[in-house]
Amino acid sequence: MARKLIIAANWKMNKGPAETADFIAAFLPSVQALAGECDIVIAPPFVSIPSASALLADSPVALSAQNASEQEKGAFTGEVSTAMLKETGVQHVILGHSERRSIYGEGDQLINAKVKKCLAADLHPIFCLGETLEERESGKLQEVLRRQVSGGLAGLSNDDMSTVVLAYEPVWAIGTGVTATPEQAQEAHAFVRTLVGEQFGMEVAEATRIQYGGSVKPSNSADLMAREDIDGALVGGASLEAESFRDLIANAVA
Ligand code: PEP
Repeated sequence: MARKLIIAANWKMNKGPAETADFIAAFLPSVQALAGECDIVIAPPFVSIPSASALLADSPVALSAQNASEQEKGAFTGEVSTAMLKETGVQHVILGHSERRSIYGEGDQLINAKVKKCLAADLHPIFCLGETLEERESGKLQEVLRRQVSGGLAGLSNDDMSTVVLAYEPVWAIGTGVTATPEQAQEAHAFVRTLVGEQFGMEVAEATRIQYGGSVKPSNSADLMAREDIDGALVGGASLEAESFRDLIANAVA
């Protein structure tokens, strides 16, 4: 099945409103011609979302948040609700990123609650999963991915799954400069697709887009995207410069 590529920039804690505006001014004109060939998403920090939203309105580039609260509203200091994100023009939300899992202790149950909260608000989750080096080396890759898929996507309907994008990100490849080989990534993606098939049926699995994340750059995006089960990329470091992110996308769709 032909799945449209989806390439997303995860800026993490980089770029305030002014830098965000500068990036978009340089980036947007340069990707107009590429945007028909793949979905492009930018995930700035919360405070830069209004600036990005104004500049991306009526453009082919979609806007994502990097997190959302599982709560509705009220006494949750420091949290941002899905209604607030919706109001500011956000379409996607990155959930379950390994930095949220390891630094902020987010577990499968909480991530699942966030996924459901986003779906209820008509926000499209980019659901991240992936193993640490220790887990891979001790032969636990499949067990970890199985737990993350079954826990994080528990209780979702097939309809829900039509708006969920998965991002397989081996933790050892994130921000390290070490990329999984296209073969390693393909093998994990095929397995994740099997897991989605077990939970939701093969028709849903075949339609689900699975991004690869972990040191994707202009020089390796083409090789990775050429693999059968790799349907896009979630990009940290190489998305911070407009030219590098544009080149990465251009090579991916070539
Ligand atoms: C990420 O933050 O999701 C990521 C993959 O980062 P990097 O591209 O820098 O490895």
